[in-house]
Amino acid sequence: MKLTTIGCWGAYPYQDAGTTSYLLTGRDGFQLLIDCGSRAVNELEKEISPLDLDAVIISHYHPDHVADLGVLRHYFQLYPKHLWEPKILPIYGHDEDSQEFAKLTLDGVSNGIAYDVKGTEKIGPFDITFIKTVHPVVCYAMRIVERESGQVLVFTGDSGYFDGLADFAKDADVFLADVYLYEGNENHPAHLTSKEAGQIAAQAGVKKLVLTHMPPLPPAGIAPDNHLEVLRSQTETYSKGIPVELAEPHKSWEIGEC
Ligand SMILES: [Zn+2]
Ligand SMILES: [Zn+2]
Repeated sequence: MKLTTIGCWGAYPYQDAGTTSYLLTGRDGFQLLIDCGSRAVNELEKEISPLDLDAVIISHYHPDHVADLGVLRHYFQLYPKHLWEPKILPIYGHDEDSQEFAKLTLDGVSNGIAYDVKGTEKIGPFDITFIKTVHPVVCYAMRIVERESGQVLVFTGDSGYFDGLADFAKDADVFLADVYLYEGNENHPAHLTSKEAGQIAAQAGVKKLVLTHMPPLPPAGIAPDNHLEVLRSQTETYSKGIPVELAEPHKSWEIGEC
C-alpha cells in the first residue's frame, strides 16, 4: 500500500502547506483519506480526483483534522452530476462526540459511520483497530493492516505519551507519529515530543518512523529556517537506528518497500 502526505502541519496551516491529512492507497486501488485538515481538498486534487475517494476516516474532531471535511462533502454534493457517477462517501469517525459525529452525515452525499473501537473495522482492503490516545478531546490512534499484503501503518492521531502506544505500534512498517513538540516537553497532555516518538519507535521495533503534525514554527531558541531538521535529529537520537523521516506535502512511501 502507498501512503501519501496531503498536509503535515499541526494546529494551523502555514505558508504553502495545510494541516494533517493523508491518502492511503491499497494495492487494489482503494483510496482512503485519513483526516481531512485545511487545504486537504486542493492538495488531494494534485494526487487524485477527490470524487475517487472510497472512504474517509477521522481520528478526532479538532479543526486541524476536519477543517476541509465540510467542503469535501460539498464537492460530492455539488460537482456537476453529469460529469461523474454520484456515490455516497462513507466517513468513519468515533461517536463519543454526538454533535460532531452527526455532522459526518449529509443526506444523499455522505454517510457517517461510527468505527468499532473495541473490535476491527473492515474498510475496503484494510483491517483497522483503535486505541484511545491522551488528548484534550477523544481521539483514536489507528493500526491499519492491509489484509492481502499484511503491511502495517500505525497512525497516532494526536497524542501525548502513554504506556500501550508502543505495543499498539509493534512491528509496524511505518509509524506515522504526531510530533508537535521538541525534547524537554515530555508527558504533555496533548502531543508527543521528538524524544518520546523516537523511544516509542525503538520499543515497538517499527521499520520506519515518519514525523508529522509538526509545529509550523519552533519555540524561542531554535532557528526557524531548519527547525524541522532539529526535530528530526532529536528524534533520531532516541530511535536506536530506526530511520526517521519528515512528512511533507506530496511525499509518499510504498509501505512494505521502505
Ligand atoms: Zn491536531
Ligand atoms: Zn487534536
